[in-house]
Amino acid sequence: MAAGEKPDGDAAGEARIYARVAPPLPVSGLFTYAVPERLVNLVVPGVRVAVPFGGRRLTAMVVEVGDIPPPPGVLARPLLALLEETSLVGPDVLALGQWVSRTTGCSVGEALDAALPRAVKRGHAGRRVEQVRLAVANEAVEALVIELQEKREKQARALRILADRGGCMTTRELMSMAHVSRSPIESLARAGHVSLAKVVQSKDPMLGVTIESRPHLTLTSDQASVLARIITVVDERPAAGHTFLLHGVTGSGKTEVYLQALDHVVAQGRQGIVLVPEISLTPQTVRRFSERFDRVAVLHSHLTDAERNDQWRRIRRGEADVVIGARSAIFAPVPDLGLAILDEEHETTFKQQNVPRYHAREVAIERTRLTRGVTLLGTATPSLEAWHRAESGLYERLVLPERVAGGRTPEVVMVDLMLEQRRKNYSYLSDPLKAAMEDAFARNGQVILFLNRRGWATVLMCRGCRSGLKCPHCEVSMTLHRRIDRVLCHYCGHEQPPPTTCPACSSRLSPLGFGTEKVEEEVRRAFPGVSVARMDSDTMSGRGAHEKVLSAFGEGKLHVLVGTQMIAKGLDFPNALVVGVICADSALFLPDYRAAERTFQLLAQVTGRTGRGPKGGRVVVQAFDTRHPSIRAGMIQDYEAFARTELPEREAYGYPPYARLVRIVVQGLELPEVKSRIDELTQLLTDSGLAVAEPQDTGSPGLFDAIETAEAPAEVAPESDSPTADSTAALLASGDLKLLGPALAPIPRINSQHRMHLVLKCANDAVVDTLIQRLEGRVAPAKGVRVMVDVDPMGML
Ligand code: ADP
Ligand code: ZN
Ligand code: ZN
Repeated sequence: MAAGEKPDGDAAGEARIYARVAPPLPVSGLFTYAVPERLVNLVVPGVRVAVPFGGRRLTAMVVEVGDIPPPPGVLARPLLALLEETSLVGPDVLALGQWVSRTTGCSVGEALDAALPRAVKRGHAGRRVEQVRLAVANEAVEALVIELQEKREKQARALRILADRGGCMTTRELMSMAHVSRSPIESLARAGHVSLAKVVQSKDPMLGVTIESRPHLTLTSDQASVLARIITVVDERPAAGHTFLLHGVTGSGKTEVYLQALDHVVAQGRQGIVLVPEISLTPQTVRRFSERFDRVAVLHSHLTDAERNDQWRRIRRGEADVVIGARSAIFAPVPDLGLAILDEEHETTFKQQNVPRYHAREVAIERTRLTRGVTLLGTATPSLEAWHRAESGLYERLVLPERVAGGRTPEVVMVDLMLEQRRKNYSYLSDPLKAAMEDAFARNGQVILFLNRRGWATVLMCRGCRSGLKCPHCEVSMTLHRRIDRVLCHYCGHEQPPPTTCPACSSRLSPLGFGTEKVEEEVRRAFPGVSVARMDSDTMSGRGAHEKVLSAFGEGKLHVLVGTQMIAKGLDFPNALVVGVICADSALFLPDYRAAERTFQLLAQVTGRTGRGPKGGRVVVQAFDTRHPSIRAGMIQDYEAFARTELPEREAYGYPPYARLVRIVVQGLELPEVKSRIDELTQLLTDSGLAVAEPQDTGSPGLFDAIETAEAPAEVAPESDSPTADSTAALLASGDLKLLGPALAPIPRINSQHRMHLVLKCANDAVVDTLIQRLEGRVAPAKGVRVMVDVDPMGML
């Protein structure tokens, strides 16, 4: 590392080497700096450097290096220091950063910044500790222990403990557990029975554990033909990449196909990346991969900084064959990506909610295009976007129609909540649901109850003015949580003791609606003596809390599990004889065009939780709108029926997948300023371009007074003076672009910030590109007002 070095003298004269860098700021383009003589050959693409920028010192990623001087008249100042010994990412990730910038409207630097874990940027070295590992086969341990027992009792003891604890622990731990000093362990190492190595200290149970390796399963004929097709395409090294949509119900053996496809890729010396939703990134998931591959790297949020840094550098050195992680692992610097897998493709968490607002599916497809690899999207309930693309031939569809283990399809019962209420049953456990639960308990079975709403009551309703108690900072009703006797705002986290009277009119407040907490209480009341646990983000905050409840349920220590969507996925409990959906339409009326899709997906997933074991299973779905097609289709997990009814709706209203949306949200403390900023943006988009004489950015976004070292990015063509075919105004006139708003956002205030939005419907990708270009450099924060551009937004609230 070379920190704080003095910049070299002047850059004039002989031919020089220049670096084009991307600072992690909302500024457009790349910036050119001269590489000082002593750093030539060390400054390569993918390292970070310190540069002078607008009077500050900044850290920026080097994207290009070479004899690429800035335009005449612009002086490139020397960069200040090199911050890395080796590059952090390869050329594909650098190209990906530029692609994310172009397609989501952020800067290249912001995209690359998000690609690197914070720990890697800080270069956390971590404390290195000595680890002792078993160096003999597990089966040989017993004989060895007996042999050592005679004369070297301490060594025998240490060896046995090490083997019992999975074959890997820190030397210190072993010393204290076996009550031995260092020397017996060193003797074991000298004899070759164990090995000692310094490693970055790991608190993570998934790292450093020796896992018994397991052979592949013999595939069913469906799995075999799916795998054969994937392998064929992998071997073709398609010049433009290739995307598969693997549509298979839960339990149809998708994961087994992933494992064997990865094996093929790894055998070629290439690598695979497996993305799963954060919530599915459990030790069990990681174990399934570690059982098949020796060199697995895991990137997830529970890692310490040092662990994460260590994993990243291992991956970069090509020491991991398979990388498993959530969304951002798609940027993991594997040298040669052969296969990218997204499990549960439909999950909205694959879309990042802050800058850069990328979707991991799109990034995966672009990255495998660059590496001539393959993207495999697996799900039981594809997003309609993926489904539509498969229909139109953009993706290739593969199908696994049946569960590997068979199992009966669950019997599904629908309960009309409207009728129940007419019959004066205001409980959220209807009579048919209670009867089914009774029956399950009688057969020693378990019950899962699902409700997508946490808390006790949804609102405290005023009997006088008939409005719900709202959060003082957000335009959102607060939720009553009984156990802690508090009302909470689920948007900003504000909490307070529940008032007894309405702050506006002083009338009495009474609770209305219901959440998981109330369901839990009703179960306790209806079935005294039954053990109930609740799983939602209120009860599951601690690390491992999730695991604990699930394993207790798996071991049969709990009779009933009540939860939000947290329990909807990935669980496999053969003894769960009843799944109850408390209110299937609770999400149906949100002002979001995806409401029906979400309802279907949740229902299809939840109902898939039962019918796995020999005792079969029953699903009780309670709903107010029992005829809604998404509910009907979700109940019986009929994806095609859902797609058949929902796609025409989307087409009729011009929503994705038939158009693409771009949402612009403007927010700030003062409503008038928010309003004037959004009007300005509307003007910018509707204006023909003739009247506006806005100067093209010269590298400065207005954030800094002077950026002496920067020149205008060469890629940006000078703006023309006349309306062209691709100006947004022309697109609006032609109807390829439609502008909705500006309007107050459905949630008009969050955290005291007023929010307004514009929604743009774009007929095709080119329209989106034009729009992003038009907005470039126009969305920097100013006067306390922030602008967010969200391409293909997941939510519209
Ligand atoms: P999915 O990923 O589609 O939910 P999995 O791959 O997890 O399905 O398979 C479901 C269950 O079936 C797992 O327990 C798995 O071990 C088992 N399984 C998968 N493929 C086979 C096979 N070919 N032979 C036997 N068991 C299999
Ligand atoms: Zn009131
Ligand atoms: Zn709030």
